[in-house]
Amino acid sequence: MSSKYDVLVIGGGNAALCAAIAARRGGASVLVLEGAPKFYRGGNTRHTRNMRCAHDAATEILTGPYTEDEFWEDLLRVTGGQTDEVLARHMIRESKDILNWIVEQGVRWQPSLGGTLSLGRTNSFFLGGGRAMLNALYLTAERLGVEVEYDAEVTDLVIEDGMFLAARLKRPIKGEIEIRATSLVAAAGGFEANIEWLKQYWGEAADNFLIRGTPYNRGSILKMLLDKGVQQVGDPTQCHAVAIDARAPKFDGGIITRHDSVVFGIVVNKHAQRFYDEGEDIWPKRYAIWGRLVAAQPDQIAYIIFDSTVVTSFMPTLFPPIAGQTVAELAGKLELDPAALEKTITEFNAAVQPGTFDHTILDDCRTEGITPQKTHWARKIETPPYLAYPVRPGITFTYLGTRVTKEARMLMADGKPSANMFAAGEIMAGNVLGKGYAAGMGMTIGSVFGRIAGREAARHARN
Ligand SMILES: Cc1cc2nc3c(=O)[nH]c(=O)nc-3n(C[C@H](O)[C@H](O)[C@H](O)COP(=O)(O)OP(=O)(O)OC[C@H]3O[C@@H](n4cnc5c(N)ncnc54)[C@H](O)[C@@H]3O)c2cc1C
Repeated sequence: MSSKYDVLVIGGGNAALCAAIAARRGGASVLVLEGAPKFYRGGNTRHTRNMRCAHDAATEILTGPYTEDEFWEDLLRVTGGQTDEVLARHMIRESKDILNWIVEQGVRWQPSLGGTLSLGRTNSFFLGGGRAMLNALYLTAERLGVEVEYDAEVTDLVIEDGMFLAARLKRPIKGEIEIRATSLVAAAGGFEANIEWLKQYWGEAADNFLIRGTPYNRGSILKMLLDKGVQQVGDPTQCHAVAIDARAPKFDGGIITRHDSVVFGIVVNKHAQRFYDEGEDIWPKRYAIWGRLVAAQPDQIAYIIFDSTVVTSFMPTLFPPIAGQTVAELAGKLELDPAALEKTITEFNAAVQPGTFDHTILDDCRTEGITPQKTHWARKIETPPYLAYPVRPGITFTYLGTRVTKEARMLMADGKPSANMFAAGEIMAGNVLGKGYAAGMGMTIGSVFGRIAGREAARHARN
């Protein structure tokens, strides 16, 4: 490792690798600094499965068109309008080209997974998942001559008047070193693994959060950039958070701990009370609100309750459901008040209206006369064994970030563009995602802005 490069990329996930490859293809010398050891390289990216890209016609693996306008409408709906329209539309337009570009970098697609995901038309799945995708990107980057240093946690950035000069890093064996580069691409993720930082906004409740991905995304680079004058974007309390199994590990539980069974049953809190419409919308448009909903419940715990008729309707998870031959027996195993759970289920069953069940559309199976209503897919819970998954908030990634331009260039607090600093991926996701989420967008943000950031960083370095 020499100590001067054209482009320095901090991070080792999708955004970083797309940036590194684009910068190298743009003629720059590139160093990637990945804070994690090699085995754990790739941050949250290694847990991913798919990416959402606009396309005008069906492809080998996508069942039909997904136009720029439809993507935009979806984004508008899930964010409630809290998005930067110029950036978002630019990202959507560029996403069309990413479908091919990423394949040119060695990544392969596979047909969509089925079940409740309903993503066959909109999202392309990585053959072999995120880890295989990353391996392909690393291989391509290394073949092109990108240098990669693992166990390379950047601990300080030297920035003067909006210009990046050098990064200092700590390496377990090789010690401290300063790296200089003409351009910087920050692709070091959000701050989701930093419980102390989360506590600033969530209080003690954050102790009950589980972090779905890497423990290395502690937001240190984000914090350094904001402290050194980069403009902040996004609400620090906003994040992607889903309901995951309460038995999952504190970090890195990955996709197999996520529960997609909410629409098939009811969800109750520790007082055995329902608290939200489980059938509000098609699951890929709603799964990402359940982390926050559970976070707002006492002790940040909830239970998805269903019966034996639906066990094969959703993707199985790592943990088996907890079962009881009666509602009371199930309640006992969950340490819920049996009478309270029986009352909730009895009232729910009585409110279920006749209808034709179809989980792929907003069907007419709904409740009447209870609060909250279940507006679709409501069916009686009456066939033993009764089953439950305990769930906690599973934090995927945070939205607080650095403000960027269409060229992925960071803006400084005074509104001026940085001379040589670019950002991509989770660290700038808040530009597009003010709140909410539609499945597959994390990888779109990383790939599109990673590619742009790398290209622009190389262009700056060459000039
Ligand atoms: C379980 C799970 C499933 C997901 N599934 C999907 C999916 O199917 N589709 C989708 O679009 N999104 C998905 N996401 C979200 C997706 O993972 C992220 O949006 C995306 O991977 C972000 O890419 P990134 O490169 O910005 O960050 P990451 O991939 O998280 O990479 C950040 C990198 O920065 C490094 N780093 C952090 N601090 C430092 C430092 N100080 N010095 C050096 N390096 C540092 C980390 O080690 C890491 O390598 C999922 C997330 C999780 C947790």
